[in-house]
Amino acid sequence: MDRMLDELNSLEKNSLLRELKSISEIDDIFVKINGKKYLDFSSNDYLNLSSYPEIIEKSIEATKKFGVGSRASRLLSGNLELFDELEHKIARFKNKEAALVFNSGYQANVSLFAALFEDCDVIFADKFIHASIIDGLKLSPAKFFRFRHNDLSHLENLLKANRSKFKRALVATESVFSMDGDIAPLVEIVNLKKKYDFEIFVDEAHATGIFGKNGSGIIEQLNLTRDIDYILGTFSKALGSFGAYFASTNLVKKYLINKSRSFIFSTALPPGVIAANIASLNIVKNEMERRKILIENSDFFRNLLKQNFFEIKGETQITPILFRDEAKTLQIAQNLQKIGYFVIPIRYPSVPKNEARLRISLTYKHSRDFLEKFVSDLKKIV
Ligand SMILES: *Cc1c(COP(=O)(O)O)cnc(C)c1O
Repeated sequence: MDRMLDELNSLEKNSLLRELKSISEIDDIFVKINGKKYLDFSSNDYLNLSSYPEIIEKSIEATKKFGVGSRASRLLSGNLELFDELEHKIARFKNKEAALVFNSGYQANVSLFAALFEDCDVIFADKFIHASIIDGLKLSPAKFFRFRHNDLSHLENLLKANRSKFKRALVATESVFSMDGDIAPLVEIVNLKKKYDFEIFVDEAHATGIFGKNGSGIIEQLNLTRDIDYILGTFSKALGSFGAYFASTNLVKKYLINKSRSFIFSTALPPGVIAANIASLNIVKNEMERRKILIENSDFFRNLLKQNFFEIKGETQITPILFRDEAKTLQIAQNLQKIGYFVIPIRYPSVPKNEARLRISLTYKHSRDFLEKFVSDLKKIV
């Protein structure tokens, strides 16, 4: 007990304590907390599909038809035909042979590397890779190394020094990084493949639905589908729903159904969620202007911040504004909250120490008027 209290006190003293805030109402990009309305800059609902009427209708329909829960894991009686429909759709969307749905991105990442790699294999992962992948690497018998964020020469040095000692090798990265909003140098990583013989895993959690001609992601945009062996994405961000997918080959899919522990030992996603995911993919396909406007507004927002001398990162709908000091960042976030902005300070351990930031995540409905007002309010606060 003492240990826990000590730790919590120390977190608080270092401006690192986190607390939950409960939302009572959601109205598009506004949320109500304790009776107060905020403009929300912290959701990942990039295309605002979580409240899209047609998707909600499909979800309700499936819930009425099949029930609220799926009643069992997919290897028992939880595997509705809806899963097949969704997996076929995803395989086409990602232009891969096969796809497997997981209950969440976290659950997928936590088991993939243990299932697919052995102790004679090696994995090289970007330093800023998502926590779920780090946990997955820890559970995998494969040896792993971390290369400096988006640093190709560091990756190549690690490959040079270590690749030949192992049987299979994997390079793991994200396409759009969740806390930095920047994009991995996938073309260059693919080029290294010829020299060092490895496979590539890319997590497209924040790119799915937004980039590429069909909204499939950065891999589609860069025309690298054939060079990337494993693609992970989620339904929980731009697609506005819940769950994740892993796209690869039929063989890998068959293998994971037999070997992935988080796939096997967890109840299947509810029918209403699967139906929503199917409907959501249709909207992404049909309503291209949503992602187009989001990308344009994100460029506009970053330019505006630069013109006003803020230190920013990223090149996507996620824009971190760096204030570095944890206490200062916390204070700015609290002041923004006072005037009606729901902005969350991102601190260690989500990002390195002294790199505290506000992570501003835009959605299709954050129009330029909102963005201009926000930047002018932020200027008054800092
Ligand atoms: C959000 C996220 C995940 C986890 O996905 P969930 O479906 O929310 O569990 C995995 N990887 C990345 C890069 C993410 O941003």
